[in-house]
Amino acid sequence: MDNQVKKFTIEFFKNLQCTISNKNNILIIENVPKGFEDLYGKVAPYNLSFSGQIDGTEFVGKGSALLVAMAKFLKGVGKTTLLKIDFDVNPNEEIKKVIFFKNCEIDNLVKTHKNNFFSRFTFISTFHYLNKSEQVVNEIYIHEGKVVDGDLSGYKVIEGKNDEATGGHVEKDYKIARDILKEILKEKTTEVSEILKIKVEKEIERIEEHYKSLVGELGGDLTGTLKKVQETELTLRTADSDEAEPLRLKLDRLKKSLVKIGNDDSRNRILAEQEFTIKDAMHKHSLNIDNKLVNTTVIYYPVFNFNLFLNSDNSKRYIEMNYNPLTKTLNKLSCESCGKEINQLNLCSAGHINCDTCLVKCGECTKVFCEKCLKKNCSVCGKSLCKDCAMMCLGCGKYVCKIHMRRYLVSGEERCVNCLRACLRCHGLSHPKHFGEALDGSKICQKCLGAEKRGAVIERIFKGS
Ligand SMILES: [Zn+2]
Ligand SMILES: [Zn+2]
Ligand SMILES: [Zn+2]
Ligand SMILES: [Zn+2]
Ligand SMILES: [Zn+2]
Ligand SMILES: [Zn+2]
Repeated sequence: MDNQVKKFTIEFFKNLQCTISNKNNILIIENVPKGFEDLYGKVAPYNLSFSGQIDGTEFVGKGSALLVAMAKFLKGVGKTTLLKIDFDVNPNEEIKKVIFFKNCEIDNLVKTHKNNFFSRFTFISTFHYLNKSEQVVNEIYIHEGKVVDGDLSGYKVIEGKNDEATGGHVEKDYKIARDILKEILKEKTTEVSEILKIKVEKEIERIEEHYKSLVGELGGDLTGTLKKVQETELTLRTADSDEAEPLRLKLDRLKKSLVKIGNDDSRNRILAEQEFTIKDAMHKHSLNIDNKLVNTTVIYYPVFNFNLFLNSDNSKRYIEMNYNPLTKTLNKLSCESCGKEINQLNLCSAGHINCDTCLVKCGECTKVFCEKCLKKNCSVCGKSLCKDCAMMCLGCGKYVCKIHMRRYLVSGEERCVNCLRACLRCHGLSHPKHFGEALDGSKICQKCLGAEKRGAVIERIFKGS
């Protein structure tokens, strides 16, 4: 029984192309394909004992975990295994590593995730040639249509759940893996083919030589053939039993050829035989590669979405960040003004994300804004104005700040100082077109002009003119 288990185990790992060695009755298995390691849940080397528990070894016998795993692996040949890489991620910590919130803070954070998939294909390729076979095991990882280095060591790998996985990509990934496999095997294929080519060429040369001489014997040289018959008969007389048979055959052929000289049939028969022999030699020197998919593993891991609500003194902002725990990368945030990547985040008073240098203060209310938000300037003093502080003059349509906006006496509307003129008499503001010349030659407002006219009339009445 023990022996049978041992034999089975050795055979199993031999087929997987593992390195097997023996030390003090302990079987040491190394270079085990990941496909098996993951299924078994243990990384090689395995120190195996088949006769009871020995310290530092794993006992392999009826019901042992390894035996179960081997059976499972064989049963699952070509089937799909599902694995999940588990990650414990703290969003706050990951965000803190790359971003400092300067004038705002995280008010609320929600973590969601979707799964990212990749496939692993385990192939056993057998090279059949010259009556022997050689096996090679290849494991190919495909992620998003590309071959990746799939080292899972150091990750917490658990059995996946069927309802979390989608298999839609496997078929596509398999086609890619198969092409890659051909590439991988190319070197070995060329190497073996070269050896076979040299061998078969030699063999064909030998065959052609042989049949050439046979045809030559047919070749109408009557005296030559007769001479050969005599010689062969002489040799046969003194030959021992080992040599006699081939000599007798040769003699027979020579005699027949004497009869058949000039007969094309015999020649054609020999040529046909030559062709057959060459074909046979080529077949014997051909290379056959048999690729067997022994295991498909779908590996998935979560890619996180962090939904953040940021709060500053006078604005709020919702942003979405994503974090890939496999590559340990958080997406970069960039300044919404200059586009540069940021590691210090400021919120403008309108909620835009900004770097340190792109923030500007409104000349009026002194709140911080990005340049995009502070596009307006006072047409009089030039200071930058936010949306709330910029006032439009109904006279010229330009923007001005609060102190350069005045009340227009005629209509009560507000006008910028450029659009109004101060009256030298009443100091009230009016549109320049409403100014007129006073009796003393100074420009005064319409109101004052009216008053002056009325005054002049009264004066005239009193003077009695
Ligand atoms: Zn910037
Ligand atoms: Zn302002
Ligand atoms: Zn802004
Ligand atoms: Zn101004
Ligand atoms: Zn104006
Ligand atoms: Zn006036």
